[in-house]
Amino acid sequence: MLFGGKKESEIDYTSLREQMVDRQLAGRGVKDKCVLSAMRSVPRHLFVPDNYCGEAYDDNPLPIGHEQTISQPFIVASMTEHLDIDHDSKVLEIGTGCGYQTAVLAEIAREVCTIEIIPSLLDNARENFKTLCYRNIKTRLGDGSCGWPEEAPFDGIIVTAAAPRVPEALLEQLEENGVMVIPLGSGMGYSQDLVKVRRTSQGPVQEFLYHVRFVPMRGEVEGGG
Ligand code: SAH
Repeated sequence: MLFGGKKESEIDYTSLREQMVDRQLAGRGVKDKCVLSAMRSVPRHLFVPDNYCGEAYDDNPLPIGHEQTISQPFIVASMTEHLDIDHDSKVLEIGTGCGYQTAVLAEIAREVCTIEIIPSLLDNARENFKTLCYRNIKTRLGDGSCGWPEEAPFDGIIVTAAAPRVPEALLEQLEENGVMVIPLGSGMGYSQDLVKVRRTSQGPVQEFLYHVRFVPMRGEVEGGG
C-alpha cells in the first residue's frame, strides 16, 4: 500500500510518533512525563485498520469500524493525565474500542480492567494486547455502565463514550480520592462536556474540563436523560 508515495514499510513510525508527542501533546500543554513517555511507546499504527496506518499519528480521530472511532491522540493523552494515576494504580476503562487508550493506561498503571460492548471490537483489541505482550490488562465483554464490581475499587475510571449522566455504579466503584474522567451529554458536534469527578469523603466533586465529541454510550444508559 502507498502513503504519500511511500510504501507502508518505508514509513518511519517512530519519528511520526515523536512528532506527534512534541507538536500535538507537549506543544499543547500535556506535561506528565509518564503520559508523554507512554504516548511515545505505544505503536498507535498497530491499533488502526490497515488502510489508515499512514494516518495513525495525525491530529484527529479515525474510524475503527462499527461506527466507532479511535480518539485523537491529544484527547487520549489529556484524559490520561487528568486521571492522576501512577504505577500503583488500578484503572477501569469503559469502551475498549481498538484498545489504544487501554495500552497507554497499561504503560503507566499497575493494572487496567477494560469493558467493551461490541464483541468483534473486543476480539480485535485482545489480539492487539497479545501481540504487544501486555500482561496487566483484563478484558470483559458487556455493558460498562454497570462497572466491574468484582474488580472494584479503582483508583481511576475513564469512560470513552458519552453518557447522559455519571453512572451511579461507576461512582460507587471509585476509591476515595479516585478520579473519573467522562464525557457527558448527548448532543452532536463538540457539545459534550468532558468532566473530571473526584470522589471525596464529602461526596463527588465535579470539574468541567473542555468540550468534546465522543460516540454515544450504548446499553443501559441509552435514552436516559
Ligand atoms: N478507548 C477507545 C475509544 C473507543 S470509542 C480508544 O482508544 O480510542 C468508544 C467505545 O465504547 C466503542 O468501542 C463502543 O463500542 C464502546 N461502548 C459504547 N457503549 C459502551 C458500554 N455501555 N459499555 C462498554 N463499551 C461501550
